[in-house]
Amino acid sequence: MEKQIIIIGAGPIGIACALECKKHGWDYLVLEKGSLTNSLFNYPLNMTFFSTSEKLEIDRIPFISNNPKPSRNEALEYYRRVTTANTLNINLYEKVESIKKHEETFLLKTDKAEYRAHKVIIATGFYDIPNYLNVKGEQLPKVMHYYKEAHPFTLQNVAVVGASNSSVDASLEIYRKGGNVTMIVRGHEIGERVKYWVRPDVINRIEEGSIKAFFNSEIHTIEPHQITVKTPEGLKTIPNDYVIALTGYRPNFDFLKQAGVTFSEDKKHIPTYNDETMETNVDGLYLAGVICGGMETHKWFIENSRIHAKLIAEALEKSPSTLQIK
Ligand code: FAD
Repeated sequence: MEKQIIIIGAGPIGIACALECKKHGWDYLVLEKGSLTNSLFNYPLNMTFFSTSEKLEIDRIPFISNNPKPSRNEALEYYRRVTTANTLNINLYEKVESIKKHEETFLLKTDKAEYRAHKVIIATGFYDIPNYLNVKGEQLPKVMHYYKEAHPFTLQNVAVVGASNSSVDASLEIYRKGGNVTMIVRGHEIGERVKYWVRPDVINRIEEGSIKAFFNSEIHTIEPHQITVKTPEGLKTIPNDYVIALTGYRPNFDFLKQAGVTFSEDKKHIPTYNDETMETNVDGLYLAGVICGGMETHKWFIENSRIHAKLIAEALEKSPSTLQIK
């Protein structure tokens, strides 16, 4: 099948790109390996965004929520309605496996079909690959890298690894549903970027001993009924039923690499792109959304990356002839 533009990923930013294509009358298709807004779908059930709803709006379509900061369910509803009301062309449950540039066009292979496109926009986010702990026992079924809800952890000994928003939200929620929570934090304090209205809550719970915490510490070994933690005072072994390792996620660098994208050579591993057009070092291949940050996954979020869709559309508008498939 031939398309002028293929967008990979139907997250908020992939949807924003699709809206731009539709407005311009371009022949586009979005390919999404999971459900619509698959990352948001996999967020904790009770999560609340740190952004207010108007900052999550795409293409100025109003996002009405009950409270200033919307919930996961409200965001799912919003992006779903935006998609269906605009009859966007999206193939769900179709994973793009490779992108190869062939002369002036791109050949894309998915797990279902092959496509030819003149331009490709990669908006695949970073939520599919966790940063693993790389410790003995991490493969045990009691270890998870995504957190959904607290109920299964009532009356259980739960270690939460990390001190970012996700770890703090999970720790507080599990503690309040009757779980015995121990936070294992590599740094010396709760993350500075933790939501300002949540940070004092967790700090107070740690100070009063309701939530235990090991700072400057890392998990050393995970066993079926206990874990050993490397602390400044030496190794400590504590009873444990579950480990929830919320140590962040990373973009699929191999996917970008096979498409020909290059990266900064430092630890940040930032993909090469022009920040005025979002075009990568590969002509006709664009990046949009949080994938642009490389290992700096906190740099881009919906609020500040929704503009990428417009930047790409402006760049494409300037050279409409390049959209024609020869
Ligand atoms: P994503 O939403 O991750 O979309 C990428 C899509 O690409 C996914 O659906 C994925 O399935 C698909 N995909 C990946 N690989 C392939 C492939 N090979 N083929 C086909 N499809 C593929 N941001 C804010 O602005 N405000 C907030 O309050 C906020 N809160 C957050 C809370 C949490 C817990 C997290 C984790 C993030 C939060 N963010 C927030 C950040 C932001 O919501 C997400 O990073 C957002 O989902 C980014 O949108 P995106 O479209 O760039 O990527």
